[in-house]
Amino acid sequence: MGNFTKGAFFLLAAVLVSCGAESQRGVSPRDSAVQDAGEETGVSEDAASESPEGDLEDAIARLSRAADGTQPAGDFWNRLRLILEKAEIPEDISRNILSTVMESPSFILDLLFCLEGDPFLYALVDKQHALPDRYEPSDLVPLGGGSYRVSRDDLRLREAAALSLEEMAAAAKKEGVIITVSSAYRSFDYQVEVYERNVREMGKAAADRESARPGFSQHQTGLTADFGSITDAFAETEAGRWMAANAGRFGWSLSFPQGYEDVTGYRWESWHFRYTGKELNAFIDAYFGGIQQYALRFIHEWKTAEQTASSVQE
Ligand SMILES: [Zn+2]
Repeated sequence: MGNFTKGAFFLLAAVLVSCGAESQRGVSPRDSAVQDAGEETGVSEDAASESPEGDLEDAIARLSRAADGTQPAGDFWNRLRLILEKAEIPEDISRNILSTVMESPSFILDLLFCLEGDPFLYALVDKQHALPDRYEPSDLVPLGGGSYRVSRDDLRLREAAALSLEEMAAAAKKEGVIITVSSAYRSFDYQVEVYERNVREMGKAAADRESARPGFSQHQTGLTADFGSITDAFAETEAGRWMAANAGRFGWSLSFPQGYEDVTGYRWESWHFRYTGKELNAFIDAYFGGIQQYALRFIHEWKTAEQTASSVQE
């Protein structure tokens, strides 16, 4: 078992041990999780049955045993709180997540499921977090020839994003809406040009509000595209309205929503969508109020904590 998987299983086991123990006693987990959970070391042995719930409980019991029950469950809660704090997740969202985790394993299971996917789907790429040095995806494919239009013929996206784009555009087309892709993958070198041109034309402060320094652009992941006019007017077009309402269903997440400039570092960009995949997009919607930046920051801090946990365990 790799470090990552081991760490994830370990945390899962810890939280489930804690959930089971608390519900058996009928005490409010929120009040007692931290002070009491250290006493709990295992879950009941008779959990297995033929039902799907039984399968889950059986898996939980096995995972708990795999983790040896040596780690006090209270440690998990403290760690989760710390991760939420470090990721600067707002109070109300944090409280929701903590109470969800206390009630059922769904948050953790959903998270682990998302983390099984391609790491670049959830890689935090923002003003503070760059991609690996001069990162270039290996599966870029040319766009065009499908249900969408392209504003130039040299656009490329990673294969999964391109396939999803076609699926989304075909659905839009059925409803009489044509989606136009105006910008997609940008290499490190190309981003140098974009950023420097913007600085020249609008000054550094304005350029920073809507373009990334090289290495810090979501476009360099090959999983991000700009649509239509790349101006605020896009939001009021048919395609803009359709995408605002439907892109999420296809795994495309609006990166820089209106009113979140202090969170994302970017002004509202109604045209800029990142392909996160359907599962991660559902996770963002279900637990982080649809704000991609919160979810990716949380995952970033989770992975950091997990690496620490598993290196301690080795
Ligand atoms: Zn963009």
